[in-house]
Amino acid sequence: MSCLFCKIVAREIPADIVFETDEVLAFRDIRPAAPTHALVIPKRHIQGVHDATAAEGALLGALLLAGREVAVRLGVAESGYRLVINHGADAGQSVFHLHLHVLGGRGLSWPPG
Ligand code: 5GP
Ligand code: ZN
Repeated sequence: MSCLFCKIVAREIPADIVFETDEVLAFRDIRPAAPTHALVIPKRHIQGVHDATAAEGALLGALLLAGREVAVRLGVAESGYRLVINHGADAGQSVFHLHLHVLGGRGLSWPPG
């Protein structure tokens, strides 16, 4: 198993975990791009959002709901936050295990570069 995020799921690599269910795991991003920056991943390996099948719709929903919960737990649900999924090279995906970015705090600019 060479996938970095699968190793975090397996607790082979440490992470600052902020939320967990049977299906998903959320942890702080190691290089925060915003004052609050966490990642939510499915525990099961899926390369990217475009690799998820229609049968995995419930899992994709669980990812979004977990993103909301992470926003609550990290204290940005009221002030505002952004949920982002990068897919593929042009979007800058660098870890090929599906992940939802939860970005919050002052100074989020739009549109992203
Ligand atoms: P992407 O560019 O693929 O959408 O996002 C990958 C994210 O994973 C980046 O924001 C990067 O900082 C984060 N990341 C990469 N390696 C690690 C790691 O070992 N631990 C954690 N917590 N985050 C990581
Ligand atoms: Zn993986």
